[in-house]
Amino acid sequence: MRRVITKRELRAALVSSKGKRRVLVPTMGALHAGHAELLRRARDLAGEDGCVVVSAFLNPVQFDNAEDLKTYPQHWEDDIQLCEDCGVDVLFTPTPQEMYCADRSMVVEETKLSRGLCGAKRPGHFAGVCLVVSKLFNMVQPTDAVFGKKDIQQLAILRRMVRDLDYPITLHGVPVVREANGLAISSRNEKLSPEQRSQAPKLYAALKQGAAAYAAGKSVQETIACVSQLIEAIPGTRIDYVEMVGAENFEPLGAGLHEGQAALLAVAVWFGEVRLIDHIEVSR
Ligand code: AMP
Repeated sequence: MRRVITKRELRAALVSSKGKRRVLVPTMGALHAGHAELLRRARDLAGEDGCVVVSAFLNPVQFDNAEDLKTYPQHWEDDIQLCEDCGVDVLFTPTPQEMYCADRSMVVEETKLSRGLCGAKRPGHFAGVCLVVSKLFNMVQPTDAVFGKKDIQQLAILRRMVRDLDYPITLHGVPVVREANGLAISSRNEKLSPEQRSQAPKLYAALKQGAAAYAAGKSVQETIACVSQLIEAIPGTRIDYVEMVGAENFEPLGAGLHEGQAALLAVAVWFGEVRLIDHIEVSR
């Protein structure tokens, strides 16, 4: 594996994979078992002959909360080891100065799918994601890129970016990797206290109960109320949102689903200072 820090080094490291399958996995570091699943998928897609590129960059532009950025977990040595173990060919770990000119003035903004859920709660977040991913696409010029369904709204927005800006790149979505107790694995889980960590699996349990209630005939409003109550009963939490949206357009469901329409029950919840997101597909 080659670890590179500058764009120039990256270009040099990519020369030997010109014309071959090149698979990019963008991350913010603090890698865990969820990321490892993405890396394995990338290796599979690239095959022996292709090239797997991982970026680990704590992108300041996508943080709407300075404290969250300051306390975001970092363990670069472990990240390097995990990438080695998963057969990554190139690990790109740029500095913010390498990534962004001080007087940068371009934005890349999606304007429909990003209106609700995390887009409404974290102003500028998805524009920051789109900016960094579009830059990485231009630098790496991958044939494929792998993202997690853990960040389901992000994946939908990036698919829209690829479509509307004509990036010749195939995106692949990897299912959410969970702990045995149901908790979606996240770098931010590392910031939870032991007590919060023991409570956090209740989030997915609430989503499962909500999905079952909806499948059994509860209305959208009743389902949201049921999930909200379950979450409010978890000590030390504060709801950011509990919503049901169409899985394609991310619009609030309002009256309910059309027959056969896919929908998501999505939540963002503060455990003290740590904000966790999760979702589940619903239907009936
Ligand atoms: P992050 O480093 O949190 O920006 O995540 C980098 C990529 O890993 C994103 O595409 C995430 O959706 C994905 N990811 C993070 N956690 C998980 C998980 N538990 N399961 C699946 N994908 C994940």
